[in-house]
Amino acid sequence: MDEAISFLRQFLDALYRMSHAKLSEPDDMKFISLVRAADAFFDGKDFGSGGSRPLDDPPSLFASEDYRQAAAALHPAPLFAVAHHQHSKGPLFRAWTGMEETGKRGSMMFYNYYVQRRNDARKVIARYIVCTTCLGAGEVANGGTCRACRGGGWEHRGGTKVKLLGPLVEVRKLEAPTDPLSQAAYQAIGR
Ligand SMILES: [Zn+2]
Repeated sequence: MDEAISFLRQFLDALYRMSHAKLSEPDDMKFISLVRAADAFFDGKDFGSGGSRPLDDPPSLFASEDYRQAAAALHPAPLFAVAHHQHSKGPLFRAWTGMEETGKRGSMMFYNYYVQRRNDARKVIARYIVCTTCLGAGEVANGGTCRACRGGGWEHRGGTKVKLLGPLVEVRKLEAPTDPLSQAAYQAIGR
């Protein structure tokens, strides 16, 4: 579990450095090298960070107040919790993460990433995004199953579709999201 958490923090840091450079680094080649560094965490050719920007933007753009403020507002996405499952292909880690910018109501649940070994290296094998109807809880306010995600709470957004997670081995809750609307999803972790 500790190794998986360490890998996830390195991954979120690589994504943050890429996002920050997108707004602050005038050198396109330096930005592209950070996209590649982030992509290296992902498994597969068609699954990656999705990092891109127009090339040859004038250096003055990156010195503008808008860009500087936007870059300064970023931080590595918070890692809320990690669950270890005994999957049929070996240990599988599911991570609940937030965004690189804190919202008006606080930090919110946003992505689920799944991590598993591929050829002796840990890789991010899948990305899910929080259901916009139930915000990851899988239930709506009256206690009924969320129809938008059929109770799953999360929608597939790249990589392998993880259907059977396997028995739960351990859950590590690291920090709660501060957005009140994400509390139900946080409470549901490990249940
Ligand atoms: Zn839902």
